[in-house]
Amino acid sequence: MHDSDLANESSQVSSSTERRRIVVVTGGAGFLGSHLCDRLSDGGAVVICIDNLDSGRMANILHLLDRPGFTFIEHDVCDPLPITGRIDEIYNFACPASPPKYRADPIHTLRTSVLGAMNALDLAERTGAVVLQASTSEVYGDPDISPQPETYRGAVNTVGPRSCYDEGKRAAETLVHDYADRRGVSTRTVRIFNTYGPRMAWDDGRVVTNFICQALSGEDLTIYGSGRQTRSFCYVDDLLDGIQAVMALPDRVVPPVNVGNPGEFTILELADKVLERIDSPSRLRFCDLPVDDPRQRRPDIGLVGRLTGWQPKVPLDEGLDRTIAYFANALDCVELAR
Ligand code: UDP
Repeated sequence: MHDSDLANESSQVSSSTERRRIVVVTGGAGFLGSHLCDRLSDGGAVVICIDNLDSGRMANILHLLDRPGFTFIEHDVCDPLPITGRIDEIYNFACPASPPKYRADPIHTLRTSVLGAMNALDLAERTGAVVLQASTSEVYGDPDISPQPETYRGAVNTVGPRSCYDEGKRAAETLVHDYADRRGVSTRTVRIFNTYGPRMAWDDGRVVTNFICQALSGEDLTIYGSGRQTRSFCYVDDLLDGIQAVMALPDRVVPPVNVGNPGEFTILELADKVLERIDSPSRLRFCDLPVDDPRQRRPDIGLVGRLTGWQPKVPLDEGLDRTIAYFANALDCVELAR
């Protein structure tokens, strides 16, 4: 569908679906966005999925295209969202999220975060919708404390290779705060920690997909630096349970809240777990550590627990089994890119 059809489509959706929730998901063809579209659609919502297919993929939403109440619009969130009619909720998920993808065109990445948030918030102001902004653990940069609570202000480099993403997401948080404060928009901000699962792109460049695809294809696993840096990995289903619980809160405004799994592992431990599960000749290959790569990352999830009662349930071992099964089911990793 083209941009010029957007307003019409939305009004048609509104008139024929008076009592169903109408939800916009930007980045809806991406890894997280497409799983969210599934859940919303399964739950009976009318879903308007917006994606410019930069890092999102049609393969993630093909199964939804024929569903009544599901609309896909190819559109870049840097441009205003010309949607009219009733909208109940907006999930602003549009942005490349893996370091190689967001660094590929850093200016566009920054524009996506800042203008995308502004356009989502403008739409919310026009329609009265509630906005949930996808923020990131990257707002903490290379943290000096662990675990990271929401009160920690972070240690972000303004001029490094990760800055376009980190500063873009930080600015988006500020916009969300100011639209809530000055214009009465109802908002939530979730700081998403490393998430993995089926539908990540095989060439996404993040560590879980790299290791699984490398092991499945018999290539050596690329360990950046010593491999002693840590991350805390959250399975996609857990993450979306947490995010939907935050969206459902009755508060008009929910300030930034961490959502992730506090189980913390070194990258070497992750490599071991992948190699234990895949019969592969792969060994470890040590490569340079990327500039500004955070040394540690672990969410303090006390706040989201107190607000919603949510806690992650899927241990890394189980999530890896499910993710490996997804990648192994394809003929080969390259097949998944189509
Ligand atoms: N990493 C690695 N090998 C890879 C990809 C990533 O050792 O093939 C490391 C990376 O340097 C970082 C960690 O794994 O320390 C997580 O990287 P990822 O890109 O998944 O996410 P982020 O750095 O944004 O947390």
